[in-house]
Amino acid sequence: MGDISDLVSHFITMNLCKNQGCLDYGQLCEKISPIYKDPDEMLSGVLTEKNRFVIVDGKEKTGCSVRPDSVVVAKTSLRVCQSLPGNCHRNCGNLHLCRYFVCGDCRYRNKCRNCHELDTEHNAAVLMRLGLQNLEPSELFLLLLLNDPYLLPEVMQHLPI
Ligand SMILES: [Zn+2]
Ligand SMILES: [Zn+2]
Repeated sequence: MGDISDLVSHFITMNLCKNQGCLDYGQLCEKISPIYKDPDEMLSGVLTEKNRFVIVDGKEKTGCSVRPDSVVVAKTSLRVCQSLPGNCHRNCGNLHLCRYFVCGDCRYRNKCRNCHELDTEHNAAVLMRLGLQNLEPSELFLLLLLNDPYLLPEVMQHLPI
Protein backbone atom coordinates (compact mmCIF):
# COMPACT_ATOMS: atom_id res chain seq x y z
CA MET A 1 0.00 0.00 0.00
CA GLY A 2 1.67 3.21 -1.21
CA ASP A 3 1.31 6.65 0.29
CA ILE A 4 -0.92 7.98 -2.48
CA SER A 5 -3.43 5.17 -2.31
CA ASP A 6 -3.43 5.60 1.47
CA LEU A 7 -4.40 9.23 1.02
CA VAL A 8 -7.05 8.42 -1.57
CA SER A 9 -8.43 5.69 0.62
CA HIS A 10 -8.65 8.17 3.49
CA PHE A 11 -10.27 10.77 1.23
CA ILE A 12 -12.89 8.26 0.09
CA THR A 13 -13.67 7.21 3.67
CA MET A 14 -14.18 10.87 4.65
CA ASN A 15 -16.48 11.46 1.70
CA LEU A 16 -18.49 8.32 2.37
CA CYS A 17 -18.90 9.30 6.00
CA LYS A 18 -20.12 12.76 5.01
CA ASN A 19 -22.77 11.07 2.86
CA GLN A 20 -24.41 8.68 5.32
CA GLY A 21 -21.68 6.11 4.74
CA CYS A 22 -22.16 5.36 1.07
CA LEU A 23 -21.91 6.85 -2.44
CA ASP A 24 -22.34 5.63 -6.00
CA TYR A 25 -19.15 4.73 -7.77
CA GLY A 26 -20.00 7.39 -10.38
CA GLN A 27 -20.35 10.06 -7.66
CA LEU A 28 -17.03 9.03 -6.16
CA CYS A 29 -15.34 9.31 -9.56
CA GLU A 30 -16.68 12.87 -9.83
CA LYS A 31 -15.22 13.74 -6.43
CA ILE A 32 -11.82 12.33 -7.33
CA SER A 33 -11.68 13.68 -10.88
CA PRO A 34 -10.52 17.22 -9.92
CA ILE A 35 -7.51 15.56 -8.24
CA TYR A 36 -6.71 12.64 -10.55
CA LYS A 37 -6.75 12.47 -14.33
CA ASP A 38 -7.92 8.88 -14.34
CA PRO A 39 -10.30 8.53 -11.36
CA ASP A 40 -11.46 5.11 -12.52
CA GLU A 41 -7.96 3.67 -12.46
CA MET A 42 -7.18 5.20 -9.05
CA LEU A 43 -10.51 4.22 -7.49
CA SER A 44 -10.72 0.69 -8.79
CA GLY A 45 -7.30 0.03 -7.24
CA VAL A 46 -8.03 1.64 -3.88
CA LEU A 47 -11.50 0.12 -3.51
CA THR A 48 -10.08 -3.42 -3.54
CA GLU A 49 -9.11 -2.80 0.08
CA LYS A 50 -11.61 -5.26 1.46
CA ASN A 51 -11.18 -4.10 5.04
CA ARG A 52 -12.18 -0.51 4.19
CA PHE A 53 -14.84 -0.71 1.49
CA VAL A 54 -17.69 -2.89 0.35
CA ILE A 55 -18.96 -2.57 -3.21
CA VAL A 56 -22.55 -3.49 -3.94
CA ASP A 57 -22.66 -4.12 -7.68
CA GLY A 58 -24.95 -2.00 -9.83
CA LYS A 59 -26.50 -2.86 -13.19
CA GLU A 60 -25.29 -0.07 -15.46
CA LYS A 61 -22.75 -1.20 -18.04
CA THR A 62 -19.93 1.09 -19.17
CA GLY A 63 -16.22 1.00 -19.80
CA CYS A 64 -15.46 1.66 -16.13
CA SER A 65 -14.02 -1.23 -14.14
CA VAL A 66 -16.78 -0.81 -11.56
CA ARG A 67 -20.34 -0.08 -12.71
CA PRO A 68 -21.11 3.60 -12.03
CA ASP A 69 -24.34 2.82 -10.18
CA SER A 70 -22.54 0.43 -7.85
CA VAL A 71 -22.75 1.59 -4.24
CA VAL A 72 -19.53 1.94 -2.26
CA VAL A 73 -20.01 1.51 1.50
CA ALA A 74 -17.47 2.54 4.12
CA LYS A 75 -16.16 -0.37 6.14
CA THR A 76 -13.85 -0.50 9.14
CA SER A 77 -12.41 -3.08 11.50
CA LEU A 78 -12.81 -0.52 14.29
CA ARG A 79 -15.02 -1.73 17.13
CA VAL A 80 -16.24 -0.43 20.47
CA CYS A 81 -14.70 -2.40 23.35
CA GLN A 82 -17.21 -4.62 25.12
CA SER A 83 -15.25 -4.92 28.37
CA LEU A 84 -16.29 -2.97 31.42
CA PRO A 85 -14.21 0.18 32.02
CA GLY A 86 -10.89 -0.76 33.62
CA ASN A 87 -11.44 -4.46 32.92
CA CYS A 88 -9.59 -4.55 29.64
CA HIS A 89 -6.11 -5.71 28.73
CA ARG A 90 -3.46 -3.08 28.07
CA ASN A 91 -3.13 -3.35 24.33
CA CYS A 92 -6.80 -3.52 23.50
CA GLY A 93 -7.31 -2.28 19.93
CA ASN A 94 -10.94 -1.25 20.41
CA LEU A 95 -12.34 2.13 21.27
CA HIS A 96 -13.10 2.68 24.93
CA LEU A 97 -16.31 4.53 24.41
CA CYS A 98 -19.86 4.43 25.72
CA ARG A 99 -21.96 2.56 23.16
CA TYR A 100 -25.02 4.68 23.95
CA PHE A 101 -23.00 7.82 23.37
CA VAL A 102 -21.97 6.50 19.94
CA CYS A 103 -25.61 5.71 19.19
CA GLY A 104 -26.48 9.31 20.11
CA ASP A 105 -28.60 8.77 23.20
CA CYS A 106 -26.63 8.24 26.40
CA ARG A 107 -29.04 9.50 29.02
CA TYR A 108 -26.36 9.59 31.74
CA ARG A 109 -24.49 12.35 29.90
CA ASN A 110 -21.53 13.59 31.99
CA LYS A 111 -22.53 11.29 34.88
CA CYS A 112 -21.93 8.24 32.66
CA ARG A 113 -19.19 5.89 33.93
CA ASN A 114 -18.31 4.96 30.36
CA CYS A 115 -16.03 7.18 28.33
CA HIS A 116 -17.52 9.93 26.17
CA GLU A 117 -14.14 11.25 24.94
CA LEU A 118 -12.45 10.43 21.66
CA ASP A 119 -9.22 12.18 22.54
CA THR A 120 -8.12 10.03 25.45
CA GLU A 121 -4.63 8.58 24.97
CA HIS A 122 -6.07 5.12 24.28
CA ASN A 123 -8.75 6.19 21.81
CA ALA A 124 -6.45 8.58 19.95
CA ALA A 125 -3.91 5.78 19.46
CA VAL A 126 -6.59 3.34 18.26
CA LEU A 127 -7.91 5.87 15.71
CA MET A 128 -4.43 6.78 14.54
CA ARG A 129 -3.56 3.14 13.88
CA LEU A 130 -6.52 2.80 11.51
CA GLY A 131 -6.00 6.21 9.90
CA LEU A 132 -9.37 7.47 11.19
CA GLN A 133 -8.06 10.30 13.39
CA ASN A 134 -9.26 13.08 11.11
CA LEU A 135 -12.91 12.11 10.96
CA GLU A 136 -15.43 14.32 12.72
CA PRO A 137 -17.00 12.50 15.71
CA SER A 138 -20.35 12.34 13.87
CA GLU A 139 -18.64 10.76 10.85
CA LEU A 140 -16.76 8.30 13.00
CA PHE A 141 -19.89 7.29 14.91
CA LEU A 142 -21.70 6.71 11.63
CA LEU A 143 -18.85 4.49 10.45
CA LEU A 144 -19.09 2.53 13.70
CA LEU A 145 -22.87 2.22 13.48
CA LEU A 146 -22.54 0.84 9.97
CA ASN A 147 -19.93 -1.71 10.97
CA ASP A 148 -20.04 -2.73 14.60
CA PRO A 149 -22.69 -5.40 15.29
CA TYR A 150 -22.39 -4.65 19.01
CA LEU A 151 -24.02 -1.26 18.41
CA LEU A 152 -26.95 -2.49 16.39
CA PRO A 153 -30.30 -3.27 17.91
CA GLU A 154 -30.75 -7.05 17.94
CA VAL A 155 -33.30 -7.08 15.16
CA MET A 156 -30.83 -5.52 12.74
CA GLN A 157 -27.98 -7.92 13.49
CA HIS A 158 -29.47 -10.36 11.00
CA LEU A 159 -29.23 -7.97 8.06
CA PRO A 160 -26.19 -8.39 5.86
CA ILE A 161 -24.02 -5.25 5.82
ZN1 LIG B 1 -10.81 -2.54 25.54
ZN1 LIG C 1 -22.55 7.16 28.26
